[in-house]
Amino acid sequence: MPELKYNSAAEIDDAYETLQATFRAGTTRPLSWRKHQLNQVVLLLRENLDAIVQSFAGDLGKPRVEVITGEVGPIVRRTIQSVALLDEWASDERVAAPDWQQSWSPTVLKRPKGVVLVISPWNFPVFLTFQPLIGAIAAGCPAVLKLSEIGPGVSTLLADLLPKYLDRSAYRVINGGVPEVTHLLRLKWDHITYTGNGTVGRIVAKAAAEHLTPITLELGGKSPVLIDPNTTNLKIVAKRVLWGKSRNAGQICVAPDYVLIPRAAQDAFVEAIKEAAAELRLDDALASTDSYGSIVSEGHYRRLRNLMTTSSGTIVVGGNTNEERRRIAPTVYRDVKEGDSLLEGEIFGPLLPIVPVDDVRQAIEYIDAHPRPLVLYAFTEDPEVKQALRDETRSGGLHFNDVLSQAGVDQLPFAGVGESGYGNLTLKYTYDEFTYLRGSVDIPLTLEPNLSTRYPPYTPAVIEALAIKSGAVQAPTAAATASA
Ligand code: NAD
Repeated sequence: MPELKYNSAAEIDDAYETLQATFRAGTTRPLSWRKHQLNQVVLLLRENLDAIVQSFAGDLGKPRVEVITGEVGPIVRRTIQSVALLDEWASDERVAAPDWQQSWSPTVLKRPKGVVLVISPWNFPVFLTFQPLIGAIAAGCPAVLKLSEIGPGVSTLLADLLPKYLDRSAYRVINGGVPEVTHLLRLKWDHITYTGNGTVGRIVAKAAAEHLTPITLELGGKSPVLIDPNTTNLKIVAKRVLWGKSRNAGQICVAPDYVLIPRAAQDAFVEAIKEAAAELRLDDALASTDSYGSIVSEGHYRRLRNLMTTSSGTIVVGGNTNEERRRIAPTVYRDVKEGDSLLEGEIFGPLLPIVPVDDVRQAIEYIDAHPRPLVLYAFTEDPEVKQALRDETRSGGLHFNDVLSQAGVDQLPFAGVGESGYGNLTLKYTYDEFTYLRGSVDIPLTLEPNLSTRYPPYTPAVIEALAIKSGAVQAPTAAATASA
């Protein structure tokens, strides 16, 4: 594994000053310049696909197919779309003001906020760094990218590649740990996006508040899976949920965290899970290099092993581990009860607790009584259950009958709510995060006669006319005027 070279405080300050100067000089303003940088992102990712896949080897051991479908592919696709849509996103918008204000040319201008900071985590280090980056480029904002020190392979490669493709006066990678982030957070940014855990999210939010800097927080949490056994096919559900829990070894912010299922259906679901585990060859997960990955670090491996030893649930599949390769076979637990270690924090690993409940109604109440998750999954075909979930629960996303695939819908917003964060990313939503709306009017001097009533002295007739025009007083009806 390569040793990650940390940037010094002087290098951070230099990056900050350079980007500020670039923004002030207007370098990032022309749409043609932004499109060129976006096209360079596509080149960077396509020309270095093999190196990117390779860079994951010592970190997550992410299989090639997962790097292509979960990291590089979606960014290339979204970057190409951003180039195609940029003119439309960036165009000024005339607003539908009343006729008497139309000659003022009331317009909404879309303008870049300025120099932004992007802090990204290790679990999807390419996707979660480039998603905000392409939005920042499209919006005309220079950006510092703080990559995660927990995935040194990818962070080293990106620090090497970015300056070869993107304008170094506008985009810089900073590598480091807590001291480097702390240094970055003392500086005044025009926007910060942070993707990671809620504890650090709070540190970022507090630091940003010192400068009144707006932020986007993409956090995690425990995303439940509600199963309504009466209206679904448990075999398909088991396969989909187990697949979602196994990808990236469960280290996905939208991974299914735990299952809620009516008690009477637990046995049948467990049987379906066993069949799905055999079909997905989960017994191969400790050795496989092309279908399953590793836990990112020794620290996270120990954390998950600790959850395994303290849980009182009963293992129905998996349970095997390999410390040397930091591998944990996808492991499913039945009869997990409130208070179990698996139900405390976000699991962020390939462990799946099944929590039996009395019925679907109790499951809905359970979800509503817990912190707002990033995603709520429900397997049901019952329209009333679907409506109850839409109306009675809150979560970043609400997805029926599958897991993870919502992240592939480019046009949907991606965001949390409450404890899972705030602010939206994906395509135009990302562009909007880095853009501010500037209201503008241009009132010709030739309209001066129309404005005469606003100037003192205010005669009673003028006051009455202004009161009616402003809407504060209702205009007299024709009948009232006639009788007066
Ligand atoms: P991480 O440990 O890599 O942390 C992310 C960044 O925070 C890194 O750059 C790191 O240097 C910095 N950091 C860590 N500790 C810090 C501190 N004390 N002060 C200042 N900065 C600090 O990543 P992580 O938090 O382990 O990532 C996993 C979490 O991210 C999970 O909770 C997951 O659900 C969440 N996540 C959310 C999304 C989303 O889009 N909502 C996506 C991926 C991951």
